[in-house]
This record gives sequence, C-alpha cells and structure tokens, in this order.
Amino acid sequence: MKIVTILGARPQFIKAGTVSREIMKYDEIEEVIVHTGQHYDANMSDIFFEEMQIPKPDYNLDINGLGHGAMTGQMLEKIEEVLLKEKPDCVVVYGDTNSTIAGALAASKLHIKVVHVEAGLRSFNMNMPEEVNRILTDRISNILFCPTQSAIDNLENEGYNNLDIKIVKNGDVMQDGAIFYKDLAVKPKVELEYEYILSTIHRAENTDDLERLKGIVDALNEIAKEIQIVLPLHPRTKAILEQNNMKANFTIIEPVGYLEMVYLIKNSKLVMTDSGGLQKEAFFFEKPCITLRDETEWIELTDNGFNILVGSDKEKILETYKNYSSLFTMDYSLNLYGDGNASEKIIKELINA
Ligand code: UDP
Repeated sequence: MKIVTILGARPQFIKAGTVSREIMKYDEIEEVIVHTGQHYDANMSDIFFEEMQIPKPDYNLDINGLGHGAMTGQMLEKIEEVLLKEKPDCVVVYGDTNSTIAGALAASKLHIKVVHVEAGLRSFNMNMPEEVNRILTDRISNILFCPTQSAIDNLENEGYNNLDIKIVKNGDVMQDGAIFYKDLAVKPKVELEYEYILSTIHRAENTDDLERLKGIVDALNEIAKEIQIVLPLHPRTKAILEQNNMKANFTIIEPVGYLEMVYLIKNSKLVMTDSGGLQKEAFFFEKPCITLRDETEWIELTDNGFNILVGSDKEKILETYKNYSSLFTMDYSLNLYGDGNASEKIIKELINA
C-alpha cells in the first residue's frame, strides 16, 4: 500500500510524526511525504523532523508567504502533479490548514481515497480560515478519523450518516505523541523561574485584530508583574507586534522544538494560549488552561472544567487569572482522547480498508 502524506504546518508535523512512527512498523506500507512549505523556518519545520525522527519529505513544494488564495491554489496544482506521478492508494491529510484542503481537493478530483485525521471538529465560527478548511475537507474525504465524541456528534448533526463516508473514532494522535515524548523532554535555553505560565499566541483572529491583540498583551504584561510568563513567539505574531510597536514585558523566546515544548508544558503552573493543540497538551500534562479565544473545538475540555475560554478582553483575562485555581476541576482521570493508540487504529483501519 502506498500512502501520500500531505503536511506543511507545525501542528501537522507533530500529528503526522506519530502516525509515521506507526507506519514504519509495517514493511508493506510505503509512505511518500509531501511538505507544502507552508511553515519553512528551521525552528518551525526542520527541528520537528529531526527531533521526532520523521522521515525526510520526498517532496518539498516550497509554497509560502502568500495569501490564502494563491497559497492554496499553488498547493493544489503542485500536489496534483505529485499524485499523478506517485499514484498512491490514499492521501492522508491532517487538521485544518491550507495544506489540508489543498491535499484533499487534489486527491478527490483524481479519485484517490482521501483520509482526514482530526476530522469532525468545529468551532462554529466561519470567520476562521481553519473552520472553512475543516468543513470542506471532511465533506470530500472517504475516511474520517475523529479524535472525540463531540467530533462524531458534529458529523452526525451535519447528516454524515447519510453519506458514503466511513467515520472512525480513533482517539487523538497528539495524545500518542504526548505519551511517547513525555520522558524525552529537553530543557530549552531559557532561565525559568520556580513557577511560570506558558503562553502562545498565533491565531489569526487575535493577531490580525489589533484590539484583540492589545487586550491580550496588556493582560499578560500585567500578570507578568506577578509571575514569569514564557512565550515562544510565532513568527506572524512577532512581525505584527514589531510593526505596531506593541511592547511585551514578559519572557519572549524563539519558537522551540517539540521536546523543549513538552518540557515547558510539563513544568508550567498554568497554560494561557489560543493554540488548538496546546489546549489538549495542557490536559495531557495535567495543567489548567485559560484559552484566549471566544470558542474552542475541544469542548470536552471546557465542559469538564479543564479549560476556560476568556477571549481577548484585558479585564476578563485578569479576572479569570486571579480566580483560576477555584475555577477549574482537577480530575484528570477522565478519558477524553482515547487510549494513546490513535495512530495504530488509523493504520489498522487503512490496511483493512
Ligand atoms: N509547539 C512547539 N513549539 C512552539 C510552539 C508550539 O512545538 O514553540 C507545538 C505545541 O506544543 C503543539 C503544536 O506546536 O503541539 C501546536 O501548534 P500551533 O499552536 O502552531 O497550532 P494549532 O494547534 O493552534 O493549530
């Protein structure tokens, strides 16, 4: 069986890395990796391939720094060329980026089976580019691997039971990764105080709306007077902060590799983020999470008290931070994301499909 894996952005390296590790156990599966080039800095891309021992991409399409239309369009064209040459049995796409939709669309038009990992998630906010990518990718896929019950419920509500699309609840591949890498964490080169908050900010809804960004940065500046805040800064957020002369008075570091990130999560007191993946990782490592968004796809975290949505309003963030220890439920024994064998379930299903 030949699988073409499409990836391009940081969270996809982490997800596909765990699945690749599983694929390598099977001699009968050949994986061809296509990197679209969406994330290309060494610390946003290469480091993950090295640290997680993901096989080097067979193709690097080098498409980046473009608007949504040009980026997705060029990916579509180039991925189609690869698929025509490789003639795979299926194409596997991950998550919700432009690389995801481009890969799914190219394969679907060539009648190649599309497999979507992390399917069925919804924020119900159509202004998010990720939401558009998710919905369209799900609809043109042949097999949907869903991490959570809420993802299955979303698909049911959209009438997927009447479509000829196989839906599998396999659990979360990021949980497989967290389990595998938890004891391999590496301390990043930053002076950490005894207690610190780990934060990341990169969602377009926050970085492209200066009022929202200012609310978040002002709140973090205030909190940083009390406790260290460590924030590995995404290149997009960095550029916008610089262009607008917004001062962040906390511990800003360059983006770190996954092993350093695991260290930072494991040793933090609290996570404050607008990342999708980091919300879950906070749960995997039993850390409370304050989410700097108005909605989340990971509703089992908010429903069960592991995560609080605060949005971007400075006062609301400060208020929640002040009271956070009394706001969270701390029973981490709940099984929300499967048994840590999500990747294995994917490969077993593909072999039998
Ligand atoms: N991450 C990382 N280094 C960093 C920041 C994040 O390895 O400097 C990891 C993080 O732990 C998670 C993934 O990148 O596994 C999340 O990616 P991101 O927040 O960029 O995307 P999202 O999950 O929001 O789509």
